[in-house]
Amino acid sequence: MASDLSALWARCWDEELKNRKDQSPSYTQDQYSLTGRASAAYGGKKGPEWWADNGPAMIQRWLDWRAENAGWEIWVTPDGNPAIEIELNIKLPGDIPVKMFIDRVFVLPSGQLAVLDIKSGRLPDFDEQLGLYATGLEIAYGSQFRPEWGYFWDANKGTHGTPRSLARWTAPLMSQLYAEAAAGINAGSFLPKPANNCQAWCGVSDYCSVVNGSKAAGVDPLASL
Ligand code: SF4
Repeated sequence: MASDLSALWARCWDEELKNRKDQSPSYTQDQYSLTGRASAAYGGKKGPEWWADNGPAMIQRWLDWRAENAGWEIWVTPDGNPAIEIELNIKLPGDIPVKMFIDRVFVLPSGQLAVLDIKSGRLPDFDEQLGLYATGLEIAYGSQFRPEWGYFWDANKGTHGTPRSLARWTAPLMSQLYAEAAAGINAGSFLPKPANNCQAWCGVSDYCSVVNGSKAAGVDPLASL
């Protein structure tokens, strides 16, 4: 089984790389940022080699977890699609368009709906992402299909974390947050918020002055202050 998963991983990795190249033909693999920290044996970064060695085990953990939690059933949307990587394009109050892809929506053994996001790195401290998904499902399908609970599933441990109540992430709150973010973007305000060793995983850290990015001069106005 392990070698099957390794072969599957390698095939999917190549397909994804090809998709990225199709989207950005001038990009080469060495221009992709490497995420997270790994041991010195991998050069301190989670590059393709680290993923080839660790990714298949993550898939196995998912298979094991699904087998152990057979009472969690994949929800089927009102339009008849299993809720796996579903794409929603909704408008928050105030006519704010939002596109999202939701990893999974489950029907729990209790009969309640729950959104689940699969994480292969550090789990977020905050559950806003899950709250947005609950709001998206409510807007797309009606309030009776708004999930009450959200989970981050940890691919490194093969478990889901504590259930998070999503009740406070209402459509008006999400709308306010997104309206404020859009106003900042439209005003050209991109204030950096360094946290959690972000220079190790942030895709634009090279261009960010607060972490002393090597290419920040000339592109980040803060670099000249
Ligand atoms: S490196 Fe800069 S831009 Fe990236 S997350 Fe950290 S503070 Fe934000």
